[in-house]
Amino acid sequence: MFSLRGRLLASYALLLGFTLAVMTLALLLFLYAQPPNPAATYEKLASIARELTGELNIANPSAEGRPLARALVSSLLSQLNTFAADNDVRILVVNVPNRTVLFDSTGTLRRGDSIPLNQQTYALPLYLRRVFPVQAEPIFGSFRDVNGVWIFTGLIVVRQDTERSALLLAEPQPVQSWETVLARFRDNLALPLLQAVGLGLVVAALLAALISRNIARPLQRLGRAVAAVAAGDYTERVSASGPQEVRAVAEAFNQMADQVHITQQAQQDFLANVSHDLKTPLTSIQGYSQAIMDGTAKDSKLAAGIIYDEAARLNRMVVELTDLARLQAGRLSMQAQPVDLGALAVAVGQRLAVVAQKKGVTLHIEAPPMPEIAGDGDRLAQVLTNLLSNAVNYTPSGGQVWLKTQVNHGGVEVIVQDTGIGIPPEDLPRIFERFYQVDKTRGPKRGTGLGLAITQEIVAAHGGRIQVSSPGAGQGATFTVWLPSPQLSTVVRGRRQLTRKDANDS
Ligand code: ADP
Repeated sequence: MFSLRGRLLASYALLLGFTLAVMTLALLLFLYAQPPNPAATYEKLASIARELTGELNIANPSAEGRPLARALVSSLLSQLNTFAADNDVRILVVNVPNRTVLFDSTGTLRRGDSIPLNQQTYALPLYLRRVFPVQAEPIFGSFRDVNGVWIFTGLIVVRQDTERSALLLAEPQPVQSWETVLARFRDNLALPLLQAVGLGLVVAALLAALISRNIARPLQRLGRAVAAVAAGDYTERVSASGPQEVRAVAEAFNQMADQVHITQQAQQDFLANVSHDLKTPLTSIQGYSQAIMDGTAKDSKLAAGIIYDEAARLNRMVVELTDLARLQAGRLSMQAQPVDLGALAVAVGQRLAVVAQKKGVTLHIEAPPMPEIAGDGDRLAQVLTNLLSNAVNYTPSGGQVWLKTQVNHGGVEVIVQDTGIGIPPEDLPRIFERFYQVDKTRGPKRGTGLGLAITQEIVAAHGGRIQVSSPGAGQGATFTVWLPSPQLSTVVRGRRQLTRKDANDS
């Protein structure tokens, strides 16, 4: 529904919003924990002090010519008390150098009590400063007594005197309220924070555009390539670009496309081969039966024999194709009985010895009893029969064929070697393909080209492998089948006893 870019931007904005919220909360808590700004109190008290000095005329020392301390006669004190009560303010007179109290309108501190003045520098706004007498030096700060913290504005009214007395006007420190905190936040921090968020959003939009371009572009290309393959263009490939994960997808796609292409090709070849290989015997059957019907066949018995042979070949092909299809689909059930490959080789060898002898090929069987393997005796016999009959078939009269069994690499090996027509190196890799025949005219009797494909499938179903080697045309060929033996694997590995079930599963 949303593009990658939109999603990225939304998540960045969410993150920004969350960060902003956390920061705002932290700042508000911080401001709340701070003592409130005393400036407003200083100024309020300064304007009250202005009235007081106006009323009492004590701020100008030259008028009276004596220090404030000595001016604290009872008439002045009662005036101060009245003023304090009228203006709801605390008035103190203190000796600044000694930090001792001379007078306190609340009576909390007595004359001579020490007062811990915590002085602060503060510049009064001009309009307030101007109205004070020039000699009167304003001081600001706070002090603590039993009733809490007090904020004061004071005037040092006698300076030439060593006493340096000061008239202080004080108010309790205002309690921190959320309203003032919010106002301070709004006035001082809200704007810079909003500016930062604005900048963050711009950067987020740029980043989202960049990243989405980096990811979305290769994915779009991939999408087009997938659509092309789906439409039947198996040559389509994508270049791997973008982040590593996207590149991995592109590479996987290319591999898949390769595989699909190969499979497609194999499918087409297979169909072409099947129809070609079915057509040849069918044509001869048609031709010879036509000749028999027309009476044009010179030797109708020979013609019938050919028809019989071709029909048999067709039959064989159909059986083999069905076998192969089932094997490849993994649907052909394989038994897992204990099989002695040595004994099996001897049995197969004896069966084909007659054929070999007729052909003038010497068959050597060197197959001592072997450790048992878990397998399907009938299918393994089919493997040995295929290999041995090929060897006999493709070896001219006077040649030799060996059938050997041996123990190797934790398994049992069957080797079928001949001195026959051999296989050219370029044909070796394709020899196990369905319908592959090196040269259809070479063999003395036409085969189907399916035998080795079936052989390979059966060996693979047993967890084994088959290999072929040939020095070249006319120099014989060697087929080696290796099959794992549970007995040997316990000896070799010495750890895990492979059971019948394991062999079944593999
Ligand atoms: P078929 O023998 O029915 O043609 P196979 O699948 O058994 O089919 O063999 C495929 C091809 O491999 C044969 O047509 C033949 O060209 C070649 N081939 C198989 N075994 C041998 C061998 N022992 N010597 C030479 N060529 C062989």
